[in-house]
Amino acid sequence: MANQIVLLATIIAMTCSLVIAFEPSPLQDFCIADTTSSVIRVNGLPCLDSKLAQAEHFSFGGLHIPGNTSNPLGITVTPVNVAQIPGLNTLGISLARIDYAPGGVTPPHTHPRATEILTVVKGKLYVGFVTSNPENKLISKIIKKGDVFVFPVGLVHFQKNLGSGTAISQSSLSSQNPGVITIANSVFGPNPSISDDVLAKAFQVDKSIISTLQAQF
Ligand code: MN
Repeated sequence: MANQIVLLATIIAMTCSLVIAFEPSPLQDFCIADTTSSVIRVNGLPCLDSKLAQAEHFSFGGLHIPGNTSNPLGITVTPVNVAQIPGLNTLGISLARIDYAPGGVTPPHTHPRATEILTVVKGKLYVGFVTSNPENKLISKIIKKGDVFVFPVGLVHFQKNLGSGTAISQSSLSSQNPGVITIANSVFGPNPSISDDVLAKAFQVDKSIISTLQAQF
C-alpha cells in the first residue's frame, strides 16, 4: 500500500513537472503584449486591455523581403516572434525566415524554449541536430525545396546552403519567444570571457588555440 502511494505521488509529480516545462495555455482569447508597461512583471508580457485590440497587433509585413547575407556566415535571420507581433504573447508559437548566400551557414545553436520545424522554400540545405549526452548522435539530412525537418527543443542544430544559388527557409517555433543560444558565441564570445584555464581544460587543447577562437568574437 505504501509503495502504491509513493508510486502515485511520483506519477503526479512527474505529470506536474511536464506541464510547467512548457508555455502555459492562455486563459483568455489573447493577451496582446503591452510593451509600454514597465511595472508589472509576469512570465511573459502583461496584457493590453482587450478592448484596445486591433488587427495590427496580430500582423507583420515584410516576410517576402530577402535578408542581407553579406556577412561572414552568409545568412540572415528575420524573426517574427512576440517582439514583432505583440498578439503572439502567451500563444506559444512564432516564425523565422532565413536567407542563405551560397555556402551560408546557420552555426550550431539551440532554442531553449522551442521545437523548430523548418521548411525549405528555395534551394538545398544540409541540416542536422545532435542528441544529448551520452549518445551525442548526429541526425542529419540533405533537404530541398518543399522538404521539412524538425529540430527538437533544446538540441544543438545547424543548416548549410549546399546549392550554387541563394536559399530560403521558413521555420515555425513552439514558443512566442524561442530564444537562441549560438554555441560558439556562448563559449568563446561571452562578456566577460570564460577563463582560458576552463576552456583549455574543457577542450583539451593549448591556451593559444583558445585565444585564437576567442579572437573571432
Ligand atoms: Mn534554429
